[in-house]
Amino acid sequence: MKAQYLIKTFENERLFQILKYDLLYEIDLENKLFKSEQKILVKNNSNESIAEIEAILYEYLVISSIIIKDFATDKTLNHKYITTQFEDQFIRCEGLEGIKYQLIKIYLEESIKPNQAFIIHMNFQMSAGEIKKSEPKYMWSFVVNPLICYAVEPCSGHYLRVLYGEPSAPFDLTIKYPEGNYSCVPGLLKSTKKENGFIIDHYRSKTPNIPAFSVAPYQKFSKSRNGLGIDFYIYPGLSLDKDLFNSLFHIIQLFYEYFGDNGTKTYKFATVGAFDSTMGGSENKGNAIYFDIKFLNESYMVGICAHEIFHNWNLFYVYFSGDLFEWFAEGGANFIVTWAMEKISNVNVGAHTRKFFINGYIEGEGFNTERSLLNIDKIGGKKDSFVLIYYYGALVWEQLRQKIGDNAFFTGLRQFFRDYGYKNVTYQELFSCLEKETPINVKEYLEPWINQVPKIDLSIASVDYEETRDKFATEIRIKIKSEKNLELITDVGYRTSLEGEMFIKPVTFTKKGEQTVRFESAQRPVFVQIDPFYRVPQVNLENCTWINNGKWED
Ligand SMILES: [Zn+2]
Repeated sequence: MKAQYLIKTFENERLFQILKYDLLYEIDLENKLFKSEQKILVKNNSNESIAEIEAILYEYLVISSIIIKDFATDKTLNHKYITTQFEDQFIRCEGLEGIKYQLIKIYLEESIKPNQAFIIHMNFQMSAGEIKKSEPKYMWSFVVNPLICYAVEPCSGHYLRVLYGEPSAPFDLTIKYPEGNYSCVPGLLKSTKKENGFIIDHYRSKTPNIPAFSVAPYQKFSKSRNGLGIDFYIYPGLSLDKDLFNSLFHIIQLFYEYFGDNGTKTYKFATVGAFDSTMGGSENKGNAIYFDIKFLNESYMVGICAHEIFHNWNLFYVYFSGDLFEWFAEGGANFIVTWAMEKISNVNVGAHTRKFFINGYIEGEGFNTERSLLNIDKIGGKKDSFVLIYYYGALVWEQLRQKIGDNAFFTGLRQFFRDYGYKNVTYQELFSCLEKETPINVKEYLEPWINQVPKIDLSIASVDYEETRDKFATEIRIKIKSEKNLELITDVGYRTSLEGEMFIKPVTFTKKGEQTVRFESAQRPVFVQIDPFYRVPQVNLENCTWINNGKWED
């Protein structure tokens, strides 16, 4: 079987509700042991009786038993099951290789009635040969390697993934591994004990979550400040830039100050993946954040961590669903990174991050998509949808912020998090919080940005100046290419010496075509830039700057 089987299962997610996971993992990599005992409490969430359950598990896990019991009576429900090997394209994003599973079909003698809850109790293990062969690759693989063991992806098959139901659920996860290693698991560490050379950690997540874990002979670096903690679990032999702690404490405190207390006091970060991974990622699973090791010493590591930390507000504190979810979650987290960079460093660092997003949007041709922010979904995502959500989406947030103004925008956002902590929300609650602070109708304002993807290209057509007795009067003609008239809020920047300070003139364009911007300066301008803080999601960054000698620079 090779198809888009898994993607299709997301279309009908309402058959089952996972009520709870109770998972035990025993890991002894040196002795090639990986086994698990899992109890999964499931409810028939449909209006019909169901006699067949489908689930997936990683291809090389060997099932030793499956017992199903009615939850209320503890009566065993007789069944037969068959497993088929199964290969599917990777559902996360283009560029990742496909994944191999076993598809488990369970046929019950007596069907499960609507609302009936039942427990699937299963045991499985991995053979020593497969443990030896398993190599860390990208972070979304399930790896049981002699050095590191991790599984952070909802579909990596390290737990019985019952299909036709949302995989997140409250969980208890107990993990047993040899001393000398550390575990990083989302949730609260309820207990930890030592036993015959092993450590047994018991974690609990009361909020619905993916049961993820990593275990390795990590080095652990911890710091706390003002009641907040940061733990890093880093592969052996590597060092951690101490400035990273400082930057992240700044960011967490900034988020607390602006968006309130989300309940998470310690943020855990763990490296996973291979050094030479071709794809890199990071994932927040509650208070455990996993990232590809290749990011560790990159300059944008702070930004990656800031993005994930913000998910503790916009994914794990308010529960947003429906239209604009991806824009809110991923575009929103990237936008917050650019703002956080401005706050902890300066406007240029924020602008630099936005420029990175615009370049990504241009390279990934996010503007050539059939989709829009309103109807986009990451599942089965092509590269154009990824760049649309993460990059274009962040810039749309930036335009919204410019339109509303910082004061009203952040007051509204703060109120949104205060009012809806641990509650279900949609874009309507978000917009009405913003509208309490501004006369602007947010949905109406956003429509041209979210219903389609406008192709905007700003360029400087000419720069002329006139010298009078004591000043220079400059006139810049700017070309605005776009299919329709759009309100674009940005700036014109100019310098009167190439290394000198940039002077900023805020501008708002409401019409496409040619527009003129005028300013006066004491000295002759030698450098002019349109959109110097990269606030507009342009499809082309050429001809945005002009320098003295008439040459154009990117
Ligand atoms: Zn994210």
